Amino acid sequence: LAQEADEARALHEADRLRSEFVSSVSHELRTPLTIIKGYATSLLRKNVEWDEATKLEFLKSIDEKTDELRDLIDKILLSAKLEAGALKIEKEPLLIAQIARKVVEDNARWSQNHHFRLEFPASFPVVEADPRCIEQVIRNLAENAVKYSPNGGEISISGEVKGDEIIVTVKDQGVGIPVQYQGKIFERFFRVGSPLTRGTSGSGLGLSICKGNIKAHGGRIWFESEAGKGTAFHFSLPVAGVEMDEL
Ligand code: ADP
Repeated sequence: LAQEADEARALHEADRLRSEFVSSVSHELRTPLTIIKGYATSLLRKNVEWDEATKLEFLKSIDEKTDELRDLIDKILLSAKLEAGALKIEKEPLLIAQIARKVVEDNARWSQNHHFRLEFPASFPVVEADPRCIEQVIRNLAENAVKYSPNGGEISISGEVKGDEIIVTVKDQGVGIPVQYQGKIFERFFRVGSPLTRGTSGSGLGLSICKGNIKAHGGRIWFESEAGKGTAFHFSLPVAGVEMDEL
């Protein structure tokens, strides 16, 4: 009886999580869709003559929101795939420092008041990993570092070797994550609802995707953060060759 009760509870919990996911997805998709529909309907109204500048402004918003919607759908699909363990990982020898450099160059182009620093030892080892996944993780962490440091500051991406794994750290001097939210930030759709993060846009899927990607590579992801001082995210990956030796 106790076992049946446990199974029923587990099923109930799975159902609850599924319906929570569906309602979050619907809500997230509805917001940009409502805006797109609003502008399109306005442009189509027969009894209003819009001047060229207004038309252009409406079309720009439709264009932007459509991109946002597409990104969101991509993230939702990826997140569902990771959750189901259905993502195909294609590993190849990877130079993480090179990926980090590319991410920094892209970010530096649009963030003026941040100073980026890259710190990888020359002897940093090659890792076996899927380049798209690892770039996505570093990009996500670096973009968050920029987004949640509204006053600028230094953002560093560094690498070190510890035993048979490498550890990559993305560190910022931003708003930090208040202690009461720290247990939740890897959950899907979770965003810190404090005045410090208000005004930033996001889906709350980025960190759950990072976690799924790193877990799929046999690594770990964690962070330290102090509200008002900054945050450091770390992830680990097994060093190339180690897995082969173990087989
Ligand atoms: P998003 O950025 O789309 O909201 P994420 O899953 O990437 O979603 O992050 C979840 C939440 O964790 C963010 O909404 C933010 O509140 C918090 N967070 C993530 N990275 C940082 C950071 N570097 N500094 C402060 N808060 C962060």
